[in-house]
Amino acid sequence: MGKAVVAVVGSAMIDLTAYAKNLPVAGQTVEGELFTTGFGGKGANQAVIAAHCGAEVHFIGKLGRDLFGQSIAENFNKLGINSDFVDRSDTPNGVAHIWVDGNGENRIIIIPGANYEIEKERAIQGINSIKDLSIVIGQCEIKQEITLAAFTAAKARGCTTILNPAPYQQLSQELLAVTDWIIPNETEFKELHGQLPTNDEILENFRNGKNSIVTLGSEGAVLISADGTITRTPAPKVQALDTTGAGDAFVGTFAYGLACNKTATDAMSLGVRVASLTVTRKGAQSSYPTQAEIATLS
Ligand code: ATP
Repeated sequence: MGKAVVAVVGSAMIDLTAYAKNLPVAGQTVEGELFTTGFGGKGANQAVIAAHCGAEVHFIGKLGRDLFGQSIAENFNKLGINSDFVDRSDTPNGVAHIWVDGNGENRIIIIPGANYEIEKERAIQGINSIKDLSIVIGQCEIKQEITLAAFTAAKARGCTTILNPAPYQQLSQELLAVTDWIIPNETEFKELHGQLPTNDEILENFRNGKNSIVTLGSEGAVLISADGTITRTPAPKVQALDTTGAGDAFVGTFAYGLACNKTATDAMSLGVRVASLTVTRKGAQSSYPTQAEIATLS
């Protein structure tokens, strides 16, 4: 089997999470139970799981020249993620400030910071320089014009592009034109299509000349091929503890599967199994299975 080479053009953040039974209202101070820091950002999450799967992963992005940026750079290095096109900025690294209440409900403020400073030319240069590149993944936590530039370069050299439209924002026609796979969750599907993906008819009507997968949480995922064929993969029944980063685990694993020349259905099925395992553990990247664990799911 040839190398599975994947590039991620996207965000890298530090998640700062405070857990408190009751969250404060304006002007109030409350005492919380726990504070954690963790590696996050949709781009980095997807890169990390693809690396755990065994792909050769290249990250194209921008970190702060601060302690957060430094620790993300070290983490990429430790995981063998190529960082030739991970630049640094004087703008602080991106962070996600997360408050989780006693019911597990969260409120999140994302501050993109350095993630919004990725340069178009660097993204294009990165895509053009990666040997044997087959898959390029993007999300919506960086500027859309950067994803567009990277995908355009990727298509020009014959790569397959995967767009995870999260967090949802309106997508330009230009970006959709250079996207091969679009992978929304149920909420993003509703934003894109106007209806929740509750039945096959709604899913069939979503087809738009490209392949799509909708992730359905505890229901697994459904593939809508360009010709409207629907294929479902149910999720294994698990005790869900924390779903943070589950969607990213799916996308990164699916990309790895395609890069290994698995069929799309097999890649989706592996994605579901890996993502469902991550919801049984806390955190985003901290919940991701190791390569040895993933091998037992393949
Ligand atoms: P998040 O925003 O929490 O990272 P998401 O909304 O992007 O997730 P989901 O569709 O909720 O993505 O889940 C992605 C995948 O994770 C699913 O396809 C499934 O494999 C797995 N998953 C999520 N929730 C559950 C659950 N309760 N039980 C089993 N598997 C789950």
